[in-house]
Amino acid sequence: MTYKIGPIEELIRNLNRLPGIGAKSAQRLAYYIIGMDELEVKSLAKSIGEIKNKVKKCSICSNIADKDPCDLCTDLSRDNKTICIVEYPKDVDAMERSGIYRGKYHVINGIISPIKGKSERDLTIDSLLERLKEDKEIEEIIIATSPTTDGDVTASYLVSILRDFKIKVTRIGFGLPVGGDLEYYDEITIGAALKNRREII
Ligand SMILES: [Zn+2]
Repeated sequence: MTYKIGPIEELIRNLNRLPGIGAKSAQRLAYYIIGMDELEVKSLAKSIGEIKNKVKKCSICSNIADKDPCDLCTDLSRDNKTICIVEYPKDVDAMERSGIYRGKYHVINGIISPIKGKSERDLTIDSLLERLKEDKEIEEIIIATSPTTDGDVTASYLVSILRDFKIKVTRIGFGLPVGGDLEYYDEITIGAALKNRREII
């Protein structure tokens, strides 16, 4: 029989469910947590336990935030004329880190992926269209889906539905290595991709 300690195994199993945490990393993290100061562990457990209640979805841009509407939507110093469409909240984070973009966002919360069974119905497209109908100030939509096949399919779909609006539509991508997610690129790469965006409509 292999030697196992129930609570440690449970913690390892839970950590192993997280993205990017394989069995070995989960084990290492679990033993690290056991060695941590009790107050630190409590603080970590508290933030994990409370996170679902403390963050909400912004009813305007669908980003996650601690208030609705989020700070990015209500910030008057930001450029009201541009909306950047990204796949996930973590991409807003990546864009913000680049420090170059000062407009608004719309998080579509996924990507069209026939292989993964995801279609446009799974995305927050309705709220985007609603927003475009109501907000006449918007002059440009920047599509910042990832430079992957699914990202391109999603961008093409967005272009097809945005044609009806008299708005300039651009796509970032130039300078981005093909095949990755926005979150893995550094500020300089994202900044260059944004500056070199090309006009689609
Ligand atoms: Zn928002």
